[in-house]
Amino acid sequence: MRLDKFLTQAAELTRSEAKQKIKKGSVTVDGEVVKKAEMKVSSEDAICLDGEVVTYEKYRYIMLHKPAGVVSATEDAQCQTVLDLITEGRKGLFPVGRLDKDTEGLLLLTNDGALAHNLLSPRKHVDKTYFAILDGEVGEKEQELFLQGLDIGDEKKTLPAKLEITDKANEVFITVQEGRFHQVKRMAEAVGRKVEYLKRISMGPLVLDKELKKGEYRPLFEEELAKLK
Ligand code: URA
Repeated sequence: MRLDKFLTQAAELTRSEAKQKIKKGSVTVDGEVVKKAEMKVSSEDAICLDGEVVTYEKYRYIMLHKPAGVVSATEDAQCQTVLDLITEGRKGLFPVGRLDKDTEGLLLLTNDGALAHNLLSPRKHVDKTYFAILDGEVGEKEQELFLQGLDIGDEKKTLPAKLEITDKANEVFITVQEGRFHQVKRMAEAVGRKVEYLKRISMGPLVLDKELKKGEYRPLFEEELAKLK
C-alpha cells in the first residue's frame, strides 16, 4: 500500500494531511526519513510519524461500558452516541447490536462486519445476560414463564429465557438468546413487571470488565477475541 494511504488508515489523517507530514520529513520507514508519498509499504515496515510508531490493525474490537443517556448509533442529530465516547481510532467502528438509551453495560464496538453479523445472527442464539431491577417481586411462577417463552406481542413467542432471582426478589439476572427490540423490558411486562434499571453483563463469552467505569472502554484482550471467533 502507498505510504500516504497507510497513514490515512493507521493514523487517521486525511490524504492531504498525510502528504504534508511526509513532505515535512515527519515520517520514517525503517528508521529513514521518507519524502515520497507513493512509496510502497507493508505491515512488516516500522513506520513512525513524529517519532511515534504507527501500527495498522485492519479490525478493532472495543469493549465499552455504555452509560445511560447515550444512543447505540454511530451518529445522531440530537443525542450523544456511543461512538462519541471513543476518543481515538473510531473510524469505521459501529456498535454490535443496540442497547436502549437508558440501558447500561456491555457494548462491543468493531469495524469487523463479519464478526458482528455472526454475533447478531438470530440463528446463532448468542446468550445475552442482563441485570435488571424490577418494580416488584418475581418468583418461581415467573421463572417458569420465562423458561416456556413469552408472548411479547410479536409473531412468535420468545425462545426460552432464564430468570435468576438474587437475594432481593425484584433484582434479577435475565438471559435471553435473541436480540428483539426492547426484549427484556417487554418480557418483564409480559409477566406484569416493569424494568426500572437495566444493565447488560455479558454477550456470549464476553463479560463486562468490572474495572471499566461507565463511559470507559478498552480493546478486547486476545483471549476474549479468540473466544468470540
Ligand atoms: N432489552 C431491552 O429491553 N433493552 C435493552 O437495551 C436490551 C435488551
